[in-house]
Amino acid sequence: EQDVSEYRKSLAIRVSGFDVPKPIKLFEDCGFSPALMNAIKKQGYEKPTTIQCQALPIILSGRDIIGIAKTGSGKTAAFVLPMIVHIMDQPELKKEEGPIGVICAPTRELAHQIYLEAKKFSKNDGIRVAAVYGGMSKLDQLKELKTGCEIVVATPGRLIDMLKMKAVTMTRATYLVLDEADRMFDLGFEPQIRSIVGQIRPDRQTLLFSATMPYKVERLAREILGDPIRVTVGEVGM
Ligand code: ADP
Ligand code: MG
Repeated sequence: EQDVSEYRKSLAIRVSGFDVPKPIKLFEDCGFSPALMNAIKKQGYEKPTTIQCQALPIILSGRDIIGIAKTGSGKTAAFVLPMIVHIMDQPELKKEEGPIGVICAPTRELAHQIYLEAKKFSKNDGIRVAAVYGGMSKLDQLKELKTGCEIVVATPGRLIDMLKMKAVTMTRATYLVLDEADRMFDLGFEPQIRSIVGQIRPDRQTLLFSATMPYKVERLAREILGDPIRVTVGEVGM
């Protein structure tokens, strides 16, 4: 335990919450499948970034997380890699419809980056990723959703549109990521986020990532996450 806290300190990781899994050192410590390990190596990722060292074991253990680390710290892979494990763990994967993993991001540019990253990591496993954000025709998105997907990457407004049109069903969704939560608040998406969260089953795993943690974001996190572990890397503003 002493070693663990020394190791965290050396990485400038702070954690709160009960029973926090200890940080890992290598991707090999995560128990990833050979397909996923190959995808990681193909990206040129040799070892996990600091946030990944602590967030990966927490998320892989099934816990909810509030992850706070500055831009460029590798938060995307921290939530995408366990999402793929979560999806591959589902029994009878192809029998039901609708996404298992749902990722919300504030802008179409950010959503698109996540979409590309999720595709790279999931293609070895045959997982389908659908894009639900502006800049693409709604008709194309409707078609993509109709052919089926396991992951949806969305901006909140467009996802609400698709839910209203019943183009996507959330019955299978058990892994929800709110990325760049602070920016989603700044852009006024709090009502949309609440609506989306309200349409996803309460036994989901919920992950919230942000570069900063203003009080209103913390308050929402406390409402929609269950017994979360909070992980902060480095110095973070409010
Ligand atoms: P954030 O979401 O925290 O701003 P990103 O997930 O966008 O950060 O990652 C920033 C950059 O770091 C990306 O180019 C990504 O491919 C790269 N990256 C992420 N994890 C690793 C890793 N373990 N090793 C090397 N590069 C990584
Ligand atoms: Mg990011």
